[in-house]
Amino acid sequence: LVAYKQVSKSFGDIKVIRELDFIVSPGEKVAIIGPSGSGKTTLIRLLMTLEEPTSGVIEINGEPLWHKEVKGKLVKADEKHLHKMRGQIGMVFQQFNLFPHMTVLRNCTEAPVNVLGMSRKEAEERAKAMLTKVGLGNKLDNYPAQLSGGQQQRVAIARALVMRPKVMLFDEPTSALDPELVGEVLDVIREIAEEGDMAMILVTHEMEFAKDVADRIVFTDGGKIVEQGPPTEIFEKPKSDRLQSFLKRMK
Ligand code: ATP
Repeated sequence: LVAYKQVSKSFGDIKVIRELDFIVSPGEKVAIIGPSGSGKTTLIRLLMTLEEPTSGVIEINGEPLWHKEVKGKLVKADEKHLHKMRGQIGMVFQQFNLFPHMTVLRNCTEAPVNVLGMSRKEAEERAKAMLTKVGLGNKLDNYPAQLSGGQQQRVAIARALVMRPKVMLFDEPTSALDPELVGEVLDVIREIAEEGDMAMILVTHEMEFAKDVADRIVFTDGGKIVEQGPPTEIFEKPKSDRLQSFLKRMK
């Protein structure tokens, strides 16, 4: 479903992602862990189309994300192509990024109406169903500022789900929350993960949570994948020294 092929990303002289190969299958739940500065957020921002790769290709369903094929050659894609590709990806950020001047319901209907061309009525029905699912069926007419951080993040999750993405990206979705609000957001993500059919890529510092929901854990360090495998292997039988010392520090 998602394929990074020899992807690198530099900021000036600093190479943050190094010749990365990484594949996510349909429905697979992947958690990315690693020390601060190891490139986790950059890895996911490349797929969110918020950063452009310096080299290499990222594909969604076999179609290049950042490039377009013209006469057998890959050229840089235009905004229209990026826009179309983005429609397949759901994104949830550390900061909830809700539209402050719109109600909760409206926050969730803008994209389906404007991007998918859905009727407002249908978009509202879908949005209500998703908001109910994340436990906010009674907050439709509230504005983001009237909600707690945990509630706002759940709106952001519902807003992404309304688009029925093939893959959901979560970039440290609980790191901006007060500790007592982390649980409710993790519960919602866990519930979506258990439903099964949508792939998920999750950058997180919540190791227990990663262990619970992920099919595969990817450990990054220095812009590369150092080790990956099922949670039991990664957490109970880490092979590399770097992963062993990282897990010790996280305890
Ligand atoms: P954390 O867990 O602290 O969020 P991370 O593993 O997600 O870290 P990244 O945020 O991907 O790491 O950052 C990797 C490196 O790239 C860092 O050294 C960071 O300073 C650098 N970096 C990220 N974005 C930019 C940018 N826009 N310009 C310059 N340097 C950047």
